[in-house]
Amino acid sequence: MEKIRVAVSGALGRMGREVCRTVLATEGLELVDAYDSRAAGEDLGPVLGTAPTGIVVRELTPQHLQQYSPQVLVDFTTPLSVMQNITLSLEAGVRPVVGTTGITGADLEHIREMVKKRGIGAIIAPNFALGAVLLMKFAAAAARFFPQAEIIELHHDQKIDAPSGTALKTAEMIAAARLRQPQSREELIKLPGVRGGLQDGINIHSIRLSGLVAHQEVIFGGEGQTLSLRHDSYDRRSFMPGVVLAIKKVPALDDLVYGLENILDL
Ligand code: NAD
Repeated sequence: MEKIRVAVSGALGRMGREVCRTVLATEGLELVDAYDSRAAGEDLGPVLGTAPTGIVVRELTPQHLQQYSPQVLVDFTTPLSVMQNITLSLEAGVRPVVGTTGITGADLEHIREMVKKRGIGAIIAPNFALGAVLLMKFAAAAARFFPQAEIIELHHDQKIDAPSGTALKTAEMIAAARLRQPQSREELIKLPGVRGGLQDGINIHSIRLSGLVAHQEVIFGGEGQTLSLRHDSYDRRSFMPGVVLAIKKVPALDDLVYGLENILDL
């Protein structure tokens, strides 16, 4: 069987480097190009701590995207650049697999339109870790019985956006699954922001500390009891099985898939 030709944008970043290592080591996948806005024409090998690969890291441009004709572009860059990268990718006929967070509802609509126009698929997942996807699913199940919920998301101190895409999606899923709304009540707020941010009536609290990778806890409150669901990604390798699955699934798609749960047999 022919290998899937993969390019990675954000290749010098924490996630991008892990994706490059994974693609190089995975049967059925071929890494053909690597992009980063900080690129200085270096070989990817030393960046990954391996022997030279012959793949030179360069900027993501329409010309570079055409040159080695990747079928899939994996993007782990920044909320500020992701929309431009997705547009470049779709315009070049390359299917995007996107882990970069900070994509809004309006952005998603725009991407869906572009995908339809081009007739090629795309996958966007706020979280590629299987455990985090299961946490969201379990949270939606619990929300039917526990209308009160708060989300605490904890990430490393270099993360730009807050709250995390996973926290926003979890709040959406809880809100959609609730059979009744929690009772509202008056609060005396003595410090602005102390109750977190509200999404779909659910308080989200974002913690940023060095030493953390990506973690989330959802606490449900009921009469005389609480239920806590927690997921911890201790290492960026936790995201790689989900990324590989998306790379393998996207060539057969002709629509936008948002969320890893939609390509998993759960
Ligand atoms: P990072 O800062 O380590 O890496 C980002 C890289 O992108 C940098 O090397 C930067 O130079 C590069 N870059 C910036 N603009 C670019 C552009 N226009 N074209 C090409 N490269 C560009 O960040 P990170 O920790 O690797 O995270 C990247 C993104 O992935 C963030 O949005 C983060 O929240 C998200 N993330 C998602 C998941 C998931 O499962 N979906 C998991 C972890 C991180």
